[in-house]
Amino acid sequence: MHLADILALRPVPAAALLMAITRRCPLTCAHCSTSSLLSSEEHPAEWFSGFVETIEPEDRPELIMLTGGEPMLRPRLVSSIASAARSLGTRTMVLTGGFFAPRVPPALDDVAHVSVSLDVFHQREVPRENVFRLVHVLAERGVAVSFHVVGSGPDDPYLTEVIETIRREFRDGVPILVGRVRAAGRARAWATADERVSSDRPRPCTMAAWPTVSADGTIAACCNQDVLDHRPIPGHLRLGHVSSDSWRSIRTRCRTSPLLRAIRTGGPQWASGRSDGGYCGTCRLLGTEQEAPASPAIAYLEQQVIHAQLSAGPAGFMRRYGEARFADLVMLGR
Ligand code: SF4
Repeated sequence: MHLADILALRPVPAAALLMAITRRCPLTCAHCSTSSLLSSEEHPAEWFSGFVETIEPEDRPELIMLTGGEPMLRPRLVSSIASAARSLGTRTMVLTGGFFAPRVPPALDDVAHVSVSLDVFHQREVPRENVFRLVHVLAERGVAVSFHVVGSGPDDPYLTEVIETIRREFRDGVPILVGRVRAAGRARAWATADERVSSDRPRPCTMAAWPTVSADGTIAACCNQDVLDHRPIPGHLRLGHVSSDSWRSIRTRCRTSPLLRAIRTGGPQWASGRSDGGYCGTCRLLGTEQEAPASPAIAYLEQQVIHAQLSAGPAGFMRRYGEARFADLVMLGR
């Protein structure tokens, strides 16, 4: 499954499920958004595999994306989720820091896509040549691969150098997702915070489309790290918990919540008429579903917004949410 096919699903509510199956990680990257350590929290594998078992073939996500922490610290859980997903017709993707490179754990042969992080922080922990060897071997085995690269901004010289090197090494055959270090986790103290834009103009939040399971099993409506890290999660952004909810109920809440629909359609400030906390800050301040009554007009508008985002394609998504200058690199090898 090519990276572009994954990103093409991003605007579609409940088209995918993100799962952080552990918060543990053997690496200590300075920019880690989840502040992961080898001693970080980890919860029973049965929570996560049990939730996947609630998925029904006629009501399945297209993709399950496994993250962490480092998901490959739980290779048996990765294999069991990938196997269960495959039997449903759902594909599995793993986002990894590649601590095991250049060795290829057998569990990675079970998944449809492996995205390997490579940046100035990761390569202090895992040599770049080992990561390249890992990606070569996976590609030779027929596993779809991509690089997930972050830098400090579009003019970061590291980005220019590493992108040129990847393109040369893999002859433009491997897609590259380029983003920016966010002020979250261990980077909170030194990275530039996201721009806090106040606007009455609709600014749809595509991030509110995929339910996200945090490492403690709580299921949120988006992958914003501030949302995932703080308890309680605001009511409109908490969809449930893997130990007590089924995929069907989570999918229904994600798709039909009036406030989530309004946030996906025009963003939190447009949805609420408030702008006191910036974009995501305003969203986290919002209260209950009553602030956005169910409305056929919102349902119609949401479909128009989804259609427009699908028309913009994977590179269009990256122009909004990644490093716009490098947005087209997600299409390499397509
Ligand atoms: S606007 Fe709300 S739903 Fe969207 S990413 Fe921010 S906190 Fe999450």
